[in-house]
Amino acid sequence: MTTQGRLLIVTAPSGSGKTTIVRHLLATFPDLRFSISATNRKRRASEVNGRDYYFITDERFRVLMERDAFLEWEEVYPGQFYGTLRSEVDRLLAEGRNVVFDIDVKGAARLKALYGAKALALFVRPPSLEILIRRLTQRQTEDAASLTRRIERVREEMSWESRFDRTLINDRLDAALEEVEGLARLFFDKGIW
Ligand code: ADP
Ligand code: 5GP
Repeated sequence: MTTQGRLLIVTAPSGSGKTTIVRHLLATFPDLRFSISATNRKRRASEVNGRDYYFITDERFRVLMERDAFLEWEEVYPGQFYGTLRSEVDRLLAEGRNVVFDIDVKGAARLKALYGAKALALFVRPPSLEILIRRLTQRQTEDAASLTRRIERVREEMSWESRFDRTLINDRLDAALEEVEGLARLFFDKGIW
């Protein structure tokens, strides 16, 4: 019997492939829902408000923090805030859905601590730092300053790997997607990893 209400937390340094992996999972598991975070960063051309993020102002973000509306929030880059909305997660769990998250290492550790065995925290590791930097550069979504900030943070984020339940190496994409699909299926169906 499939039990719903499980949380799959995908975390990694920027550029490791979280978004690519999460999109694949959403396309593979029709009942899975994405926890749409709130952020005050600018929307990228490819992004849709209310699908990828709730893009909100600095002021609105501050109000939500004061109201304790976030399960967790982080200033992931200087001046750039991201947070998981309590209302979003509660609503999806109440609907009996499994929920997938794309969040930074600190937020992932926080959610894992909150949800325990109901949550699987999966760390996505690129084959090397050089390859990660190449992928991030080729994605062409960041200006030079943002790219530098992201790369500066990568080493610290990499050092968090051992705190999570599983590591997925994202070298060849097709192999990584096949592996994550298997892991997710086992977790959603049986609650194990
Ligand atoms: P994140 O969400 O972790 O920042 P993305 O999913 O945006 O990472 O991936 C970063 C870039 O690398 C994207 O342009 C994506 O298409 C590409 N990418 C992801 N996985 C692979 C892979 N295994 N091989 C080559 N390119 C990849
Ligand atoms: P990006 O700007 O590339 O979309 O995301 C930057 C980083 O913020 C990524 O590591 C992403 O996973 C993370 N992030 C996105 N949403 C949240 C969130 O709600 N909470 C936390 N802690 N990190 C988030």
